[in-house]
Amino acid sequence: MGSEAAIHVLLISFPAQGHINPLLRLGKCLAARGLFVTFSTTEDAGRDIRNANNIAEKFVAPVGDGFLKFEFFDDGLQDDDPIRKNLGDHTKHLEVVGKRFVSQMIKKHAESNQPISCIINNPFFPWVCDVAEEHGVPSALLWIQSTAVFTAYYHYHHKLVSFPSHDQPYIDVNLPSVTLKHNEIPDFLHPFSPFPILGTVILEQFKNLSKPFCILVDTYEELEKDFISFFSKSMCIRPVGPLFKNPKARMGGSNIRGDMITKSENCVEWLNSREPRSVVYISFGSLVYHPQEQIDEIAHGLLESEVSFLWVLKLPPKDWNVKPHVLPEGFVEKTAERGKVVQWSPQEEVLSHPSVACFVTHCGWNSTMESLASGVPMLTFPAWGDQNTNAKFIVDVFGAGIRLGYSQAENKIVNRDEVKKCLLEAMVGEKAEQLKQNALKWKKAADDAISDGGSSDRNLDAFVEDIKNRGAAALNVISSINNNNNNNKIPY
Ligand code: UDP
Repeated sequence: MGSEAAIHVLLISFPAQGHINPLLRLGKCLAARGLFVTFSTTEDAGRDIRNANNIAEKFVAPVGDGFLKFEFFDDGLQDDDPIRKNLGDHTKHLEVVGKRFVSQMIKKHAESNQPISCIINNPFFPWVCDVAEEHGVPSALLWIQSTAVFTAYYHYHHKLVSFPSHDQPYIDVNLPSVTLKHNEIPDFLHPFSPFPILGTVILEQFKNLSKPFCILVDTYEELEKDFISFFSKSMCIRPVGPLFKNPKARMGGSNIRGDMITKSENCVEWLNSREPRSVVYISFGSLVYHPQEQIDEIAHGLLESEVSFLWVLKLPPKDWNVKPHVLPEGFVEKTAERGKVVQWSPQEEVLSHPSVACFVTHCGWNSTMESLASGVPMLTFPAWGDQNTNAKFIVDVFGAGIRLGYSQAENKIVNRDEVKKCLLEAMVGEKAEQLKQNALKWKKAADDAISDGGSSDRNLDAFVEDIKNRGAAALNVISSINNNNNNNKIPY
């Protein structure tokens, strides 16, 4: 371990797959640059991660010149605790136990030879930067959605433009560089949102935006130039993506993954047996759960279009109290020659496989980045939140997709004819070729951004320099406080 490995960074993630993946990927990139990274989320998410990826309890692994360690915190709740079923109550509970944990971690490590130099969180844990500030430790935020979505929340929080309200629910929103229709904004900001609590939690982060010294974004300069330059005049914002593809995160043979569900066997082997650009990949991320009727229509669309497919039909998320989906009678037998249905896939590998032609996606930002940066066109099927905005960008701005589904707030079912028509349009003919060329253009730009000296590579280097400089200053403050045995708050 080099001397720089003494620099210790603590990452705190909200316990959801779409949050854990990008923060863990960032952790690997930082470790590869010689830092000691402790990745943390709740113990029950940690248990799932350990089980799904065969990771030992006290896990520490070398990555490049540094190390990555997992350390999870107990949320003190039984599996069947009713708090888990209410998102608002659960989030508040996690704030109480999480604050205690982060505080203890800072104190424990301040007394050891590995004091924490920087804490990084993702957006559903906006209180992390408060705890960091109280202890005089610098903090940074990893924004895990697009910069366009960041722009929407920022403008909403600062009341810079008009947003839909109960009086005017259908107005357009005029953001710099783009106008979004009422159903294209992140719908947690819409008065009819099915999950307003999530809007509230994310907006808490915007109240705290002056506390992190830097906002890292899992995007890349080429993809979102206008939005990034809008903010770079007033804050330190650094696009560092696509994190999943960063070659340095794989240094030392590291393949540490944060899946919370065990991957189904043989997805890649099965893809190896298919023709190039012949398979439709279908997945709606870790949370979106469609009504059974929608699953029936997708299944019939697949039957009638006669395309090959790899379909992730996951079990319902824990605590959701819904029945597992069933496929139409005879579906599996009729499609045995050309289709595979699994419960969880190694999605990054699937999307980079030459047999995959297109991706029917719920447009979570991770899935969107993984698809674009792999050069795979998409059929957009958003359900809620930022997915609606991402779908608009995939189709109208990036030119890499066809609109297929509607947000769940619209309460519409896409029928089998529409599914068949869009699948064929995305796979063969002029439109398919145009989408593929655009997707390949974004893949090339992503590869450039993460290569040596590319924009994201430079931003990560600059961020590590920031940590070293600020961390060293903070450590001096902390050690002088420890020496004086003074418990006052430290202005950082
Ligand atoms: N994912 C996966 N296998 C699957 C489905 C999803 O590995 O079968 C991963 C995917 O690669 C992505 C994450 O789970 O990194 C989902 O994040 P996203 O932001 O797309 O959606 P969310 O689950 O947060 O709605």
